[in-house]
Amino acid sequence: MPLAYSVKNIPKQVFINNEYVDSKNSKKLSVYNPTDGSLISDDIPLAGEEDVDTAVAAAEKAFVTWRKISPTERRNIMLKFAELVEKHAEDIADLTRVSLGAPYKAFGAFEVGLCAETFRYNAGFIDKFGGESWPQDDGFLKIVRNEPLGVTAGIVPWNGPIGTVGLKAAPALATGNCFILKPSEKTPLSSLALGTLIKEAGFPPGVFQILSGDGTTGAIIASHMRIRKVSFTGSIPTGKKIQEMAAKSNLKRVTLELGGKSPAVVFDDANLDNAVTWCANAITANTGQVCFAASRVYVQEGIYDKFIEGYKKAMQAKKNEVGDPEKEGINIGPLVDEAQFKRVSGFIERGQQGQGKLLVGGQRIGDKGFYLEPTVFTDVDPNSEIHCQEIFGPVSVVRSFKTEEEIMRLANGTEFGLMAGVFTQDINKALRVASDFESGMVGINCVSLMFGTTPFGGSKQSGLGREAGIYALRAFTEPKTIMVNLTY
Ligand code: NAD
Repeated sequence: MPLAYSVKNIPKQVFINNEYVDSKNSKKLSVYNPTDGSLISDDIPLAGEEDVDTAVAAAEKAFVTWRKISPTERRNIMLKFAELVEKHAEDIADLTRVSLGAPYKAFGAFEVGLCAETFRYNAGFIDKFGGESWPQDDGFLKIVRNEPLGVTAGIVPWNGPIGTVGLKAAPALATGNCFILKPSEKTPLSSLALGTLIKEAGFPPGVFQILSGDGTTGAIIASHMRIRKVSFTGSIPTGKKIQEMAAKSNLKRVTLELGGKSPAVVFDDANLDNAVTWCANAITANTGQVCFAASRVYVQEGIYDKFIEGYKKAMQAKKNEVGDPEKEGINIGPLVDEAQFKRVSGFIERGQQGQGKLLVGGQRIGDKGFYLEPTVFTDVDPNSEIHCQEIFGPVSVVRSFKTEEEIMRLANGTEFGLMAGVFTQDINKALRVASDFESGMVGINCVSLMFGTTPFGGSKQSGLGREAGIYALRAFTEPKTIMVNLTY
């Protein structure tokens, strides 16, 4: 059976208490198609204060029973939701594709699969993450309970609208919290459609709700006095605002997954083909709109010319994979919208004015839609903006280096710290460099990849806290210590 909703009949309502209901706010969101810039819909709800309050009240009520239902029941609901997401994977991904432009095989399938898998993974922890106890001989039994926080929320970006739902909602719900999802204003359709699956899976009303909206909705959530945690994925400036709002309101807990400018370091002894393939894929997947894309590539002198030859060829070939995301053989869609297209093009234009040498790409493809050639700059000035700032498009910069010491200084010389990659066949060097990288994640002979089962997140200004794996469950719970006097 197909998903109840498609682009044509998507509910133009928010999902509260297991029902689609009209937003109390008269303002609406407009959603556009990046393949031609056309308007998809101009009446998607923009949730306001009253909507958030209604959802929070419903969640508070639901929390009383949701935190106490049997582990088996909660697990079955989560597993059913995972099954439904998987069953409707193509339809859900379609609803993302129309506004993000990501091809199904190259991105949509991964993204929706990640959501289903994280629900399964977290469901498996429901009866295994209760807490600990220490029956020591000092006259006291100590019990530590991992307790849910209450009403929690996830504010997510447009570049992975469904994968991020899994990363946030699954650990929140598994640990007994209620969860409110606030999708990005650019890609709300697939998230809104999840409401029907939430109900079908059996989540009780108020446990898992969806409020479409923009930054104003996000700000209401971040400063709400009765929301106890916000898990945010997005840009660094917004992340800082959220932390400030959280602190100023009720000191709600915050997890921040923010931007990156991730380095890939290729040593002379690397397997060249492997390094070229990973580096080219890393910066073109999802049209470079990936927080952990390897956008700075550093290559040791001895292998530099050969690497550049291979990388140039690989990136030129990638141009043939750019196009309409619905067409067979297309792996790279357009940039998400005109604003993003102008932003990335601006970096490319300014980059050519003395910041580096354009090796490949740089041009718009076609005259409609926001398609861009995969682009590489070499010999970049390490102080230039294309070297230092997150571009969030299919644009990488390359530099050569001589020594390990020199390259570690440069690789770590930014405020970002999300992902890093090292390519070498020397295991000692690989592990040394991996431990010296200032980043939350490191690939050895691979880069820009993630799993729903291991900690995901950044150091320095790339984030605060971790998602995925058992760390996500910790981030949605608080330990409570109970001390029992055994001598009483
Ligand atoms: P963004 O910060 O503009 O928006 C992200 C979300 O925050 C959206 O839902 C938006 O509506 C909301 N928002 C905007 N202003 C807000 C405010 N003042 N208060 C509360 N919420 C607000 O980011 P974006 O453009 O949607 O996403 C791109 C950025 O996200 C890039 O920097 C990218 O690196 C980052 N990102 C990070 C990760 C990660 O896991 N580290 C993953 C994906 C994307």
